[in-house]
Amino acid sequence: MSTQIPKTIKAIQVDKVGGPEVNVLREIPTPVPKENEVLIKVQWTGVNYIDNYFRSGLYPVQHPYTVGQDAVGTLVQAPTNYPIKTGSRVFTTAGSAFAEYLVAPRDRVAALPDEIDAKDGVSMATQGLTALYLLKESYAVKKGDWVLNRAAAGGVGLILTQIAKHLGVNVIGTVGSQSKVDIVKQSGADHVLLSSDTSESNVKKILELTGGQGVHAVYDGVGKDTWEEDFEVVRRKGTIVTYGNASGAVPPFPPAKLSPKALKVTRPTLFAIVKTQEEWDEYTSELIEISKKAKIHYAVHKEYGFSAEDVIQAQKDIQGRGTTGKLLIKVSDE
Ligand code: NDP
Repeated sequence: MSTQIPKTIKAIQVDKVGGPEVNVLREIPTPVPKENEVLIKVQWTGVNYIDNYFRSGLYPVQHPYTVGQDAVGTLVQAPTNYPIKTGSRVFTTAGSAFAEYLVAPRDRVAALPDEIDAKDGVSMATQGLTALYLLKESYAVKKGDWVLNRAAAGGVGLILTQIAKHLGVNVIGTVGSQSKVDIVKQSGADHVLLSSDTSESNVKKILELTGGQGVHAVYDGVGKDTWEEDFEVVRRKGTIVTYGNASGAVPPFPPAKLSPKALKVTRPTLFAIVKTQEEWDEYTSELIEISKKAKIHYAVHKEYGFSAEDVIQAQKDIQGRGTTGKLLIKVSDE
C-alpha cells in the first residue's frame, strides 16, 4: 500500500493545566516511529474520562502533549516482519490519538476484523479492554455472582454489564439520572439504582437484592463520592475495585478498614494489567471473540468533529454527567 505521509499533521494539544478550553488545534511535525514503533493514520478516536485527569493535572503530564487515548485507523508504517500488514485496519490504546497520524508501540496495536465496525473498535480499545480486565482479573467473576457497576451508563459501564451478563453474573447498575435508566436496562442490568437517591435507601435495596449479604464485588470508577458506600454494600470477603476518579480521588485509608469484613481492595489501571505483548494479544483476541459471541452493543453518545471546539464541547459533555456510551471524534474519512 502506498500512502503519502505528510510532513505535518493536525493535532489537538494542551500547553497548560486547566479546563476543557485549554485544548488547541495546531499543526505539528508528523511523528516518526522508532525501531519498535508503528505509524497509524487515524480515522476515528474518542473521548475517555482519563483525558480530564491529564488535562486538569490530577495525573501530571509534560506539556505540550497531544491529547487522546484510543484510535482506529490504517497501519501505514511498521518494522520488517511485523505480524500485521500495512494497509490493515487496526485499533490501539497508544495515546496521542487526537491527531491525523499517531505513533504506537509495536505491542499496543491489534488488527480489527472486517466484520467489526471502525467505531466499535474505538470503544473496544480503552473502555472495552478495561471492562474485560475488571471482570477477569480485578475480581474474577463466577456465574451467579452479584456485582455493583457504578456509572453503568458510561463508556466502561455499558460494556461491563454486557460482558458480565454474558458470563452469567447478576448486575446492579447505578446511574446519576433517570434518563439513563432505560439504556442500562437495555444493556442487560438486572437492577438499576439512582445514585441521587439517599445512600441509606440504595444500601438497603442492594442488601435486599443480595439476600442480606451484599455484592461479591463493586466496580467503582466514580471514586470519592461512592467510596464509603462501597464498604457497606460489599459482602464479607468481597472485593472493592476502585478504578477511577470521576468525582475525585478516594482518600488514603488504614488497612484496618478492611478487617471487619476481611475485604480486598484493588486499584488497577489498564496500562499495568495489560502490559506485555502476550497480555495485549490475549486480551484483544478475547475481547474480539466476546464482542462477536455476545453481540456486544458499543453505544455511541455522539459523533464530534475534529476541531478544538468539538473537543472542548465533548470534554465538557463527559464531565457534565449527561453522556451515555462513547463520545467519538471523526478525524478522517478513512
Ligand atoms: P464515563 O462515560 O463513565 O463518564 C464518567 C461517568 O461518571 C459520568 O457519566 C457519571 O455518570 C459518573 N460520575 C459520577 N460522579 C461524577 C462526577 N462528580 N463528575 C462527573 N462524572 C461523574 O467515562 P469512562 O467510561 O471514560 O470512564 C469511566 C471511569 O473509568 C472513569 O473514572 C475513568 O477514569 C475510569 N477508567 C479507568 C481505567 C483503568 O484502567 N483504571 C481505564 C478506563 C477508564 P452518572 O452521572 O450516571 O453517575
